[in-house]
Amino acid sequence: MTKIGVLPGSFDPITNGHLDVIKRALKIFDKVIIAVGETPSKKYLFSVKERVDMIKASTKKLNLEVEHFSGLLVKYAKEKKATAIVRGLRAVSDFDYEFQATLMNRKLCRDIETIFIMTRGMYSYLSASIVKDAARLGADLNGMVPKTVEQKLNQKFKRKL
Ligand code: ADP
Repeated sequence: MTKIGVLPGSFDPITNGHLDVIKRALKIFDKVIIAVGETPSKKYLFSVKERVDMIKASTKKLNLEVEHFSGLLVKYAKEKKATAIVRGLRAVSDFDYEFQATLMNRKLCRDIETIFIMTRGMYSYLSASIVKDAARLGADLNGMVPKTVEQKLNQKFKRKL
């Protein structure tokens, strides 16, 4: 049986923390699908297409499917014949939300497990939001995001390289 993991998120933009979780998920699953979502209440810096394109450009050598998804995550995961939903976990602050979302998803669909991959220490501080804040203020993002993302952030905030 092919083991398929669905890794959902905003990826606004993808960071090296996301990449680490993706690479580690690929060691567990035969196939990993990156599902780029859109929550109506959230404001994004990048469009879905830009976010999908940045992920594709940063993961060329990896065996991934990257696509936009909308609607109910468990329904999407079932359609994709996924074995599990995969999420990364950083600090305790992630836990409350993930706990609630996981129990809700389990209530909606008993067949799909959610598994968590704990962040690597070196990426535990990294989030898309903090990267955007730092980029806006002109910080050097080396080691935090892939090069293509750094360039896109520089363009967004019109900084010279
Ligand atoms: P969301 O918008 O749903 O919170 P994100 O795009 O922020 O999703 O992240 C997608 C997944 O990657 C989430 O499970 C998030 O916890 C995880 N993640 C983000 N940054 C890191 C990191 N530095 N280390 C480990 N996991 C991370």
